[in-house]
Amino acid sequence: MTALDLQHCLALDAADPLAHFRDMFLLPEDVLYLDGNSLGALPAATPDRMSEVVRSQWGIGLIRSWTASHWIEAPQRVGGKIAGLIGAKTNEVIVADSTSVNLFKLIVAALQARPGRRTILSEAGNFPTDLYMIQGAIAAVGGGCRLETRPRETLLEAIGEDVALVLLTHAHYKTADLFDMAAVTRRAHESGALILWDLSHSAGALDLDLNAAGADLAVGCGYKYLNGGPGAPAFLFVAERHHATLCSPLTGWMGHAHPFEFTDDYMPAPDIRRFLCGTPPILGLAALEVGVDLIGQADMPLLAGKSQQLCRLMIDLVEQECGFAGFELLGPQRDAIRGSHVSFHHAEGYAIMQALIADGVIGDFRAPDAIRFGLTPLYLRFADIWEAVQRLRKVMAERRWDQDEYRVRATIT
Ligand SMILES: *Cc1c(COP(=O)(O)O)cnc(C)c1O
Repeated sequence: MTALDLQHCLALDAADPLAHFRDMFLLPEDVLYLDGNSLGALPAATPDRMSEVVRSQWGIGLIRSWTASHWIEAPQRVGGKIAGLIGAKTNEVIVADSTSVNLFKLIVAALQARPGRRTILSEAGNFPTDLYMIQGAIAAVGGGCRLETRPRETLLEAIGEDVALVLLTHAHYKTADLFDMAAVTRRAHESGALILWDLSHSAGALDLDLNAAGADLAVGCGYKYLNGGPGAPAFLFVAERHHATLCSPLTGWMGHAHPFEFTDDYMPAPDIRRFLCGTPPILGLAALEVGVDLIGQADMPLLAGKSQQLCRLMIDLVEQECGFAGFELLGPQRDAIRGSHVSFHHAEGYAIMQALIADGVIGDFRAPDAIRFGLTPLYLRFADIWEAVQRLRKVMAERRWDQDEYRVRATIT
């Protein structure tokens, strides 16, 4: 292989049909932001949009804005736009709550829809909140339900007659390993189980088709690749065939068929709105809608293709430039089964990431020893990857990480 150089990266940027999207984000000049999978960057249109919603819709419209500014429809409207990014129908997705809360609602709904089956199957090492919410849902529902976790290699064979729900994260948060959504869904259905896909590390970066895969349920994050801002509301998907039968255990009034009739008895809305609970967070929804509209302008297969290219470039450059430093790729070598981030093992990973951040390259650290780089296809340039790896090489060659201040663990990594 001929050596990769900056010229090569600049040529890739010049040929990138998505390159113009970068100008639609506000990114600090001196920072290489490789953490868009934890908190997406700020779209340039968001501050003005927020100002309008706050000053005009809230400040002047006041309560009239629920109708006049279509606040009440926002969960469905933004959900419908997200549907276009994940291969769902517009009436199958709604924005509500956080990913964790949406997991709870759908886990309990699935258990109740498969009476007699008592096992929820997930992957050992899945994102913590997914496993924790299963544990909490089981404790709330009772009836002898249990969580079974398996390593990826033996997961499929564990889908048996007792499994009510298979809950998996499509792109693993640490390794970026992808599940074959269609194949695993088929396997779950053969055993009569429902499947719930967590799309937190997929939606907005990968080309997804929930309906082609036959998925039952899904959840995902608003603040990662959808660029909805810190703590943005999350989304959930329920396949239309389940709308009449699956019910949320969090029976708040916004999920009622007629919330403004103020009746004493709960009656779920006939459609996806039954998965709402309380009053929607309009400011969060407004910011999320800007991010979703922006991605909606991009072609998803192109985005997914650029993700693969960025990750491949990063892996090859780390090998070429930092071969001396002892990084070991965590996760797949094959591009087709990798999400949009790359992680490397290194015993000194924490200090290395702190030194890198001090040098303007923002990635993150995932315990026990992984440094992780989110390679957002919408706003990163190939030349950014070149520059980031050059700075990583310097951090390693000059042992800049080897300082006490870089070993102090912060609360958030
Ligand atoms: C980021 C992430 C979440 C986040 O859940 P919150 O409720 O927003 O904190 C959930 N699941 C996965 C797989 C994630 O990567």
